[in-house]
Amino acid sequence: MEKKRIERFKKQLLERRQELLKSIAQTQEEGRAMQHSYGPDEGDRANSSLDKELLFQQTTHARGLLGGIDAALTRIADGTFGQCMVCEEEIGAKRLEALPWTRYCISCQESSEKNR
Ligand SMILES: [Zn+2]
Repeated sequence: MEKKRIERFKKQLLERRQELLKSIAQTQEEGRAMQHSYGPDEGDRANSSLDKELLFQQTTHARGLLGGIDAALTRIADGTFGQCMVCEEEIGAKRLEALPWTRYCISCQESSEKNR
């Protein structure tokens, strides 16, 4: 892949990474604030654990994405970025633009989803 293109993806990935880190910190902040805002009431406690569950899911999702982004940055450093990790074909440009952290080309992704 052209160096210029890689640089662009790298910038995009780093920006996304910053956003994610911010949103994870924000979610943690919300979780802390929440613990103070609920009273001893039974219903409140139920709501509180539901909200906490939701926050937890958001954080898990964000962390998963963050891991994917870090892996993509490692692949940029290794020079394997943009390559499918299964068939080693180059991942389609459009797919890479939309999901720069993706590890698989569209056909490998589809076949892995079918096997699930
Ligand atoms: Zn593939």
